Amino acid sequence: MARRPMMAANWKMNKTVREAEEYTAALLPRAADAEEVDVAVCVPFTCLHEVGRMAENSAVTAGAQNFYYEDSGAFTGEVSAPMLPDVGAGTVIVGHSERREVIVETDEMVSRKTKRALEADILPIVCVGETKGERDAGGMWEKVSGQVRQVVEVLDDGESVVFAYEPIWAIGTGDTATPEDAQDAIGRIRDLLRETKGDDFADSVRILYGGSVKPENAAEIMAQKDIDGALVGGASLEVESFVELIGAAQNATTQTEQ
Ligand code: PEP
Repeated sequence: MARRPMMAANWKMNKTVREAEEYTAALLPRAADAEEVDVAVCVPFTCLHEVGRMAENSAVTAGAQNFYYEDSGAFTGEVSAPMLPDVGAGTVIVGHSERREVIVETDEMVSRKTKRALEADILPIVCVGETKGERDAGGMWEKVSGQVRQVVEVLDDGESVVFAYEPIWAIGTGDTATPEDAQDAIGRIRDLLRETKGDDFADSVRILYGGSVKPENAAEIMAQKDIDGALVGGASLEVESFVELIGAAQNATTQTEQ
C-alpha cells in the first residue's frame, strides 16, 4: 500500500511571530508544488495563531509541539487539545524526546495525550526513540517497543497516528542514524504494529525518521522502504533547506512509482 509521505518541521523554541510570518509566506507557494507530500510546520504556541491563519486552505498544515491532556481548568501555563484547532492547528507533536527527557513526560502521559489529540480531531505525531546509552547496552528495542505498545493500547479501531522514530543521540547532534539503522528500527516498529493491530493498520500507518535530517542525507533516508518521511528540527528553520527536504520526499514517491 502506498503511503503518502510527510515532511514535518519542528521549530522547537525558535522564531518570533514576524519571523514565522516571513517563513510561512515563503513556504506556502513552494509546498504547493509538492503535491504528493503532506507538509506540516510545528511551531511555538506564540506563532500558532498566525501560522494557522496563513496556512488555512493551503498545502501546509500548522501544528503545535505539545499540549496538556485535560481540556480546561487549573493547569497554569498549559494549553489543551480543544484550543489547538481554534488557532488553526491540524497536527501536534506528542512525546518529543526533549519533553520526555527534560520535562520528564512519562509513557502514560504520552498515551493520554495521543488519545486526547485524536478525540479533538488533531493528528498526533508520536515520537519514540532510545538514548545512546540504551542503544550501546543493546536496549534499543526494549525501549522503543515499550513506547510504541503503550500508544497502540489506547487506539480504538479506525484510529491512527503518525509515529516518528527519533533516536535521541541523533537529535540536534549532526550524528544521523545510518539509513540502514533507521530502516531496521522503523521496519521493526511496523512489524510490531502488524502483530498488534493487523495488516491494514501496519500497512497504512506512517512512520517518520527524525534525527539530524538535512538536504545531504534526506534522499538516502527517504529511499528506505518503511520510512515515510521525516520530522526535522534544525534543517527546518530555513525555508530553503526545508523545501529541499520536501523535494526529497516528493522525489522518493516518483522513484517508488517507477
Ligand atoms: C527534532 O526536533 O525532532 C529533530 C529531529 O531535530 P534535528 O533535526 O535538529 O535533529
